[in-house]
Amino acid sequence: MKPSQSESSNPKQPAARMVVIAIDGTSGSGKSTIAKSLARHYDFVHVDTGAMYRAVTWHCLQHGADCNDAAAVVRAMREMKSDFRLCDGRIVMFINGADPGEALRSEAVTQNVSLVARIPEVRAWLVAQQRELLRFGSLVMEGRDIGSVVFPDTPFKFYVDADPAVRAARRAGDGYADQITRRDQLDSTRKVSPLVVPPGACLVDTGKNTPPQTTALVLAELKRRGL
Ligand code: C5P
Repeated sequence: MKPSQSESSNPKQPAARMVVIAIDGTSGSGKSTIAKSLARHYDFVHVDTGAMYRAVTWHCLQHGADCNDAAAVVRAMREMKSDFRLCDGRIVMFINGADPGEALRSEAVTQNVSLVARIPEVRAWLVAQQRELLRFGSLVMEGRDIGSVVFPDTPFKFYVDADPAVRAARRAGDGYADQITRRDQLDSTRKVSPLVVPPGACLVDTGKNTPPQTTALVLAELKRRGL
């Protein structure tokens, strides 16, 4: 269980006793809706790893780094000061002391994030940060490589998807410009940690049910798996 809503870690909680629920899947598939419901249900910490790749991308754009230039991105990333804070049950990545907030959802960030996310040094650094978040308590972590790379040993893994037309409509309905099929293509074909169905993951199609129905199905599966 997570410690109280403080912004610091709890050194008394041994990491080995923590639980991780891994939610991977395609863009706009509804991972966040499921992850937030599960975090509330179990009182676990919600971690949106996509926001971390977006934060690095935002920082690079702020500093004029070309996201196609891996060396420039890595340089900008290494100059950046970041820290992770627990805010209202979710982890927020602060960059140089500030939360970039809604800027992470800007069109420029969305267009460039998959370019930044394919750079091995960026992934290695963020994966190490993500593993360390267990210091905050048990986690519901969403992303593209959580069940395959970040926490491959967790028995609680889901792969979330829906028809591309459904996903594109959701993003548009949320008011975001997002070329989801281009991102899916970049994310699934990159050399390091591509988007895959992790071994042992339960497949969830969010196009077939309402969000509460989907959450109920996921909770039933977690119960079946012993959580
Ligand atoms: O989840 P979200 O759509 O905000 O993720 C933005 C991008 O971050 C993805 O398209 C992908 O390129 C990258 N990402 C990743 N690995 C993760 C989470 C996100 O490569 N674990």
